[in-house]
Amino acid sequence: MDGSAARTGTTTTALELGADERRRLFGHVLELIERHAEGVRDLPGTPVADPYDIRRHLERYDFDGAMTPEAVLGDTAAMLRRWTVHTTHPGYFGLFNPNPAPLGVLGDLLTAAFNPQLAAWSHGPAAAEIDRHVVAYLGERLGLPGDPVAGHFTSGGAEANLTGVLLALTRTFPEVGEEGVGALPGRPVLYASAESHLAWLKIAHMCGLGRGAVRLVPVTPDLRMDPAALAEAIAADRARGLLPFLVVGTAGTTGAGVIDPLHDLADLAETEGMRFHVDAAWAGAAALSDRLRPVLDGIGRAHSVTLDAHKWLSMPMGAGTFLTPDAAGLRETFRVTTSFMPDEISGATDPYASSAQWSRRAIGLKLFVTLATVGRAGYAQVIERQTDLGAYLRGRLTGIGWRVLNDTPLPVVCFTNARDAQAHDAARLEAVARRVLDSGRAWISLTSLAGTPALRACITNFATTEADVDSLVGELARA
Ligand SMILES: *Cc1c(COP(=O)(O)O)cnc(C)c1O
Repeated sequence: MDGSAARTGTTTTALELGADERRRLFGHVLELIERHAEGVRDLPGTPVADPYDIRRHLERYDFDGAMTPEAVLGDTAAMLRRWTVHTTHPGYFGLFNPNPAPLGVLGDLLTAAFNPQLAAWSHGPAAAEIDRHVVAYLGERLGLPGDPVAGHFTSGGAEANLTGVLLALTRTFPEVGEEGVGALPGRPVLYASAESHLAWLKIAHMCGLGRGAVRLVPVTPDLRMDPAALAEAIAADRARGLLPFLVVGTAGTTGAGVIDPLHDLADLAETEGMRFHVDAAWAGAAALSDRLRPVLDGIGRAHSVTLDAHKWLSMPMGAGTFLTPDAAGLRETFRVTTSFMPDEISGATDPYASSAQWSRRAIGLKLFVTLATVGRAGYAQVIERQTDLGAYLRGRLTGIGWRVLNDTPLPVVCFTNARDAQAHDAARLEAVARRVLDSGRAWISLTSLAGTPALRACITNFATTEADVDSLVGELARA
C-alpha cells in the first residue's frame, strides 16, 4: 500500500498507481519517446500497413485479463513505430503535419495530468486565462482589431472554419439562431476559391446550408481567387434571389501555399455588405515573423481568422484557433444557459457558452509553454529557416531540370518534370512519388493544381536540414 492510500485508509484501485510506480512508468514512457526520437531517421517514413495485419495484432487484446503496464506501453509504442507515417522524420516533406516541438509535448503532458475543465471559466481559471492570453496575442500579431482580440482554441482548422460560418450566419441573419435557415427568404451562399480547403463542403452540410451553398470561385493562373469572378458570382446569385453572406479568403492554400488577394476580397465583402473570413490554418504562423508577416497583408481586415497551431507552429494535435474581434457575436452564436453549469464569473467568458465545444481541454497551454520559452524570436527563426529551405529546394529542383508550378513565398513546392501540358501525367508522377517513398528517406505527395498533377514537397519539420533536402533531390533524380 502506498502513502496516499495509507493516509486515507483505503485500498488502491486499479487506476490509482502509487507514487513510486508512477515515477517509474513516467520514466519508462520518456525512455520510449527518446528511443523513438533517436531512431526515427532509420525508420521507413512510410509504413507497410494492411488493416488486417493490424487487426490480427490487436486480437491479443481481448481485455479479459490484466497485463503489465510495461508490456502494454511497450507494445503500443511498437505499433506506433511500425504503423505510422512518421511526421517526426526529417525527410517528411508532407502535409503540414509537423514534428511536435518537445516543449509543446511537455505542455500537453501538464494539460493531460492536471486536466483542467475549461467548459466553465470558474473550473479552470488559470488555464482559461492562459488560453485567452495566447489567443489575444495571436490575434494582435495578425493585426486584428479588438482589445483584446477574442476567440478560442479549437480541435483544428475545420472546427475553426465551421465557427466562422456559424458566426457569419448569426451576424448576418439574426433570426437563424431561433428559426433556422429554412425561415430565410432565400438560400444563404458562401464563396471560397476553387483551391481552398474543401472542408467548406462538409461545413455547409453541417450548418444545414447544403453543400450546394458553397461557390468555388475560379482562380487566376497564379492559383489565387479571381476577384472579378467572385464579383460576377455574387451578382449572379443575387439576381437569382440567393443570399450571399460570406467571402472566405485562403491565406496559404493547402495544395500550393498560395495567398488569395486579401485586400481585394475584403473590399468586395465590404461593398457587398458581406462577412469576410480568412482561412490561414497553415500560413497564419507567418504572423510571428516580422520578415514574413507582410505576406498576410490584409488579414487584419477579416471578421474572423483560422490559424492552426498544430501546423506551422509545430504543436501536437489538435490545436487550432478561431480569432475574431467580435466577442459579442461568439456569445450570441453559442449562447446557452443550464441549471447544472456554474454561474458565469464577472469579467470572464465561459467557453462552453461562446464556442462549439462543451467539455474543453486546455489546448492553448502547450503553445503558451513553447512561446514563453523560445519567445517570438525563436519561432520566427524556425519559420524563416523553413522558408529559406523551401527556396533552397526550389533552386535545387530547377537546377536539375524540374519545373516548379506554384508561386508562393511559403515553403511548399509543387513541381513536375513534364516538359509540356500533354506530358502531365498523374500516374507517372505517382510512380515517382512511390519510388521516393520506397527509398525510406523522404515522404512527398501528389497533388493537383487547377487540374494539373504535380509532386508536392513542403518543409514542415523544424528538424529538416539542407542535407535532407539534398537527399530528397537525389532520390527524385534517381526516380
Ligand atoms: C489543414 C487545413 C484546414 C483544416 O484544418 P484541420 O486542422 O486539419 O482541421 C483548413 N484549411 C487549410 C487551408 C488547411 O491547410
